[in-house]
Amino acid sequence: MKSTPPSERDFSAVRFDAAVAIDGAGLAVAPASLLLRLADANPLQEPGPLTGRAEILALGTPDAVDAHPLAPHARVLRRPGSLLIPGLVNAHTHLDLTHIGPRPFDTAAGFQGFVDTVRTNRRTNELDIAQSVRDGLALSLAGGVVAVGDIAGAALGRPTLAPFHTLREGLGLGVSFVEFFSIGRGEAPARERISQLLHTNRQAFGTPVEGVRPGIQPHAPTTVSRATFRWLLDQIAPHVPLCTHLAETAEERTFIREGRGPQREFLESLGLWDDSMLAELGQGLSPVAHLAPVLEARPMLCAHVNDAGDGDLAILSRTRASVAYCPRASAYFGAHERFGPHRYRDMLAAGINVCLGTDSVINLPSPCARLSTWDEARLLRQRDGTDAVILLRMATTHGARALGLDPALFTFSPGPLAGLAAVPLPGRVSSAPRALEEALGPGVPGDLELLYRWK
Ligand SMILES: [Zn+2]
Repeated sequence: MKSTPPSERDFSAVRFDAAVAIDGAGLAVAPASLLLRLADANPLQEPGPLTGRAEILALGTPDAVDAHPLAPHARVLRRPGSLLIPGLVNAHTHLDLTHIGPRPFDTAAGFQGFVDTVRTNRRTNELDIAQSVRDGLALSLAGGVVAVGDIAGAALGRPTLAPFHTLREGLGLGVSFVEFFSIGRGEAPARERISQLLHTNRQAFGTPVEGVRPGIQPHAPTTVSRATFRWLLDQIAPHVPLCTHLAETAEERTFIREGRGPQREFLESLGLWDDSMLAELGQGLSPVAHLAPVLEARPMLCAHVNDAGDGDLAILSRTRASVAYCPRASAYFGAHERFGPHRYRDMLAAGINVCLGTDSVINLPSPCARLSTWDEARLLRQRDGTDAVILLRMATTHGARALGLDPALFTFSPGPLAGLAAVPLPGRVSSAPRALEEALGPGVPGDLELLYRWK
């Protein structure tokens, strides 16, 4: 084809040519061309991913895409040995802990030792918190993640929107879940602080907004009373996303089921324990069953759920809860030793929306060059042999659904696209699905390049 002088090109169109394109919705093409129209981006910007609103005009084999009227005018970016996938979702992370870096798990100190590490190292100054979130965001983008469910921790017990504002500046899509604790003798003052926060930021919480939105995270049933979970539902509009840590540790199981153990001792040491808490605790319930009345009232994103019996699965399915499984975090804390293998496949079979999260950088291998659910999917592919397309779905559309985002933004269907990443393949591939299996499999570096993102 004769090349057209640059002055006559339509620079709003960009075409990506690659070996394969595959998404979680069932599309698989090899070889593949993807034609994007960029609404407000500069397609000549270098280096790094293209940014700005974009929509897919065409996706198919190169011959098929050639037929599109804009195809001859598009700038072409070639990744001939790569697989194209949609931008990824990390449904559960703690970007404000990025400065702490990876730390080995101290088995002698247990989960409480980990909590102490977070408590002593958490930043308290809002400028420092924002910097940690920005650093975590850079690691996320390096891993092809274009939407996050990020937990904004409460330093010194003060809930903060600093991570929300930082995320909104730097990322196109996601939720910043403002975390709080409210239990025992600390229950009433903590409610007061949340009321204050919701009132001061009533505009941010009051109207559904595009892009990054504020959500709320009652930390866990071990640190927030069930009464406060229910109270919270009356304080926030139905569109405000909710998340909590649930059924994560053996200590949580003992605390909820029996009202005793290390978690109770921890609350006693802080002067927060009150015997009146036994009205809710020590009733022989699993953590999921304990929270069931709250889940019934409002679908919620539940992080971890390592401890899940058949009855718990039934509750999660019935209440349309989403589960953010963080495979490397569960392995780091040795959850399988206490509860057996994570039941994410049983959950999927029960119709539960299981998505992937990384949790914080602390529980990831050192050095940590990226914060990516691609690495969580690789672990599950290599350890469990889970279907590669299901894993891609968990890292894209399921995560989107869990965060209240449009799943179609994370597929290659025509229309708006949240992000695009390329994964180098080890060699020639026989079919598109096989390419995804190989990219997630052992013996490949698992590199990933973000080519485009919404913001
Ligand atoms: Zn977490």
